[in-house]
Amino acid sequence: MKDLTTELPDGRLFIGGEWETGTGAEITSTYPHDGSFNLSFKGASRADGEKAIARAKAAQADPAWANLLPHERARMLHAIADGIEANIERISYVQSRDTGKTRGETRALAGSAVGTFRYFAAVLETSDDDLTVQRATALTASIHEPIGVVAAITPWNSPIASDAQKVAPALAAGNAVIIKPSSWSPMVSLVLAEICEEVGLPKGLLSVLPGAGREIGNLLVEHCDIGRVAFTGGTVTGRRLAAQAGEKLMPVSLELGGKSPTIVFEDHDRDLTIAGILFGIFSSSGQSCIAGSRLFVQKAIYDDFLADLVKATEKLVVGAPDDPATQVAPMICAEHRDSVEKYIALAQEEGGKVLCGGTRPEGEAFAKGSYLKPTIIAGLTNDAQVCREEIFGPVLVVLPFEDEAEVIAQSNDNDYGLACGIWTKDFPRAWRLARAIKAGTVWINTYKQFSISTPFGGDGASGMGREKGREGLRAWQRQKGIYADLTGNPHPWARVGQ
Ligand code: NAD
Repeated sequence: MKDLTTELPDGRLFIGGEWETGTGAEITSTYPHDGSFNLSFKGASRADGEKAIARAKAAQADPAWANLLPHERARMLHAIADGIEANIERISYVQSRDTGKTRGETRALAGSAVGTFRYFAAVLETSDDDLTVQRATALTASIHEPIGVVAAITPWNSPIASDAQKVAPALAAGNAVIIKPSSWSPMVSLVLAEICEEVGLPKGLLSVLPGAGREIGNLLVEHCDIGRVAFTGGTVTGRRLAAQAGEKLMPVSLELGGKSPTIVFEDHDRDLTIAGILFGIFSSSGQSCIAGSRLFVQKAIYDDFLADLVKATEKLVVGAPDDPATQVAPMICAEHRDSVEKYIALAQEEGGKVLCGGTRPEGEAFAKGSYLKPTIIAGLTNDAQVCREEIFGPVLVVLPFEDEAEVIAQSNDNDYGLACGIWTKDFPRAWRLARAIKAGTVWINTYKQFSISTPFGGDGASGMGREKGREGLRAWQRQKGIYADLTGNPHPWARVGQ
């Protein structure tokens, strides 16, 4: 009998509600643990994209969707949440096969997608349009309408969560959505499409088009019928996309990379801090936009703290995604690991010293996988290239600092502004720093905790716009002002009837 929890998608694309073979370039998914084959299929071409957009446009305008009242649309979001919840094991399996993430992490990501759909169902049912303060003889109102057809372009590192963060509010707002997942993680969004179809989302409202960024991604940004794009990915791609969107005067949100500072003062709690730092940089094998990848440690405790941190890092269990003991799983693919290894070599050329890791784990179990040991590098200054650029792997650079003013200056001396961690028992100081540091999210004595009700996004090279939170719904709507005359009197300027 077929095991439904380990079934991979069949390789067809979800084009405006129809399962069809793509006509774009071939995509192959392999398991990062051992390179074994998952799936090979044709990705989306521009023609597939055009078809999806046309079907989405018709579905979005169809009164069967367009005339639903908010609480009726909310019901659909709850149904999708239930569908995801019933399929957590399968989603976890597919995503771990695709990305090499631990099963624990992919289960949690699927769980967070459930929460996201439920949250936006609740937001939808409780978000009011407003009667605005009257300043004349008209009744004035501010109302929110769907944009139309919108797109979500997502990266490979947390696909189901990135999809949910965009699709849930976009559908809640009454739009039709096209997801363009990364070619490195093409499978899980197709499972989401299966679920949406199964629970009765009207045909055409969702499309899933894995394919080349240059081809299908570009089409979604340029096409005149796409009214908004939410992008999560690298800063270089995000900048290009924002320029194209600017030309078209289309709103975009950009969730981009980071080089987030984590700051340890001498009055920190040692176990709490070390656990948080390890989780912040080495969970997800460091392939996380908010990874705490730049660690600042106060000079008075620098040597002592670093010795403890290295000891704890060396104890982390590197292993297979399906082994419950694994803390650090393989990276997405050998090509990406190569790019991370180049940064480690560069750090050494820049004068950095590798305190632990820096190499691939040895042994038969790791031979075919894209594994890399958790790595700590010290001896550099904040202007070194490896301290400035996002590495997106299990690599932590450590820097000493003297006092509060210096660490604020160093933390902010970076193009990115995504996240920050502060470790101290002095709460007023933590609060001062939280306000002074350029970052969309600050964690105090914790790291990488998330809540769908708290807005998330970055500043500077980390992007623009916010997702999540009640306002997350508004980003997918157009606001309209309506004036309704209350007097029945012709405007005096026209002198009609005088
Ligand atoms: P990427 O920029 O290479 O790709 C992201 C998506 O954009 C993919 O689907 C890709 O196919 C598509 N794309 C590529 N070229 C395109 C083009 N010209 N037009 C339209 N779409 C195009 O990023 P990645 O390597 O997949 O992901 C890693 C990056 O994502 C890291 O920098 C990471 O920090 C960032 N990220 C940010 C967040 C956040 O919320 N801030 C979350 C996760 C990942």
